[in-house]
Amino acid sequence: MPELPEVETIARNLRLGTTEQPALVSRHILEANLLWERTLAEPSPAEFAPRLVGQLVETIGRRGKFLYFQLSRDWLLFHLRMSGDLLVRPAHTLPESHDRLVLELEGDIQLVFNDTRKFGRVWLVDEVDRVLGNLGPEPLDEGLIPDDFYTRLHTIHRQLKPLLLDQTFLAGLGNIYVDEALNLAKLHPLSPSNTLTEAQAARLLDGIRIVLQEGILRNGASIDWVYRGGDFQNYFRVYQRTGKPCPECGTLIARILVGQRGTHFCPHCQPALILGGG
Ligand SMILES: [Zn+2]
Repeated sequence: MPELPEVETIARNLRLGTTEQPALVSRHILEANLLWERTLAEPSPAEFAPRLVGQLVETIGRRGKFLYFQLSRDWLLFHLRMSGDLLVRPAHTLPESHDRLVLELEGDIQLVFNDTRKFGRVWLVDEVDRVLGNLGPEPLDEGLIPDDFYTRLHTIHRQLKPLLLDQTFLAGLGNIYVDEALNLAKLHPLSPSNTLTEAQAARLLDGIRIVLQEGILRNGASIDWVYRGGDFQNYFRVYQRTGKPCPECGTLIARILVGQRGTHFCPHCQPALILGGG
């Protein structure tokens, strides 16, 4: 499932273009073909195409795990969920079997939302906060300072793993990057958030930022998902490395279930429920 670095990579490629695909900004939307109605969260399918066609793509970006297109009048938002992907093809290419939405764009290209498992969603809204308003802060935003992060960890008494997966606490993290960040910060996934010292909270925020920045640098991870291109999966410290040695100390990586999610950690570097300490 795509997380912050994977969605960031897709947004950047659509905004700036790559050697394989042209940039999509500054193009008008000429035609919208909704191939599977339930991919659309809002508005109604009848309202969608007439309202979208004619609008200009002004910017493309990411907030949490959402991709957004800021248009001349509205916002077009995508959540890729399990298997969603955004592809650029030549204009009027015939749809493939899992294409859910096809937009024909100025300049003889089309943008395709392809989603094998159908969990992905698309919104067209005039007020972006209706969709994004409940998201927590962006972990890479420098405005999020360690003191505030420490205070927030102590206001909410929850285990670290489920808390960091909660998009209202912090936006953009999923199973991969939480496991990697907790290993880097040397914190056990079940530690209660309100037991962290200031030093541990600062280390956790640092760890989160380091793994996200490395993920972005490597164009994300290509794993249990259709995502193409990134190679961060070759640099995982703990994620899906059960029984392999910890890169720090050589202890074998353990796996437990936390709220149905497979959770990978080093029992030596990330001891359980240590109160206080460095
Ligand atoms: Zn270790």
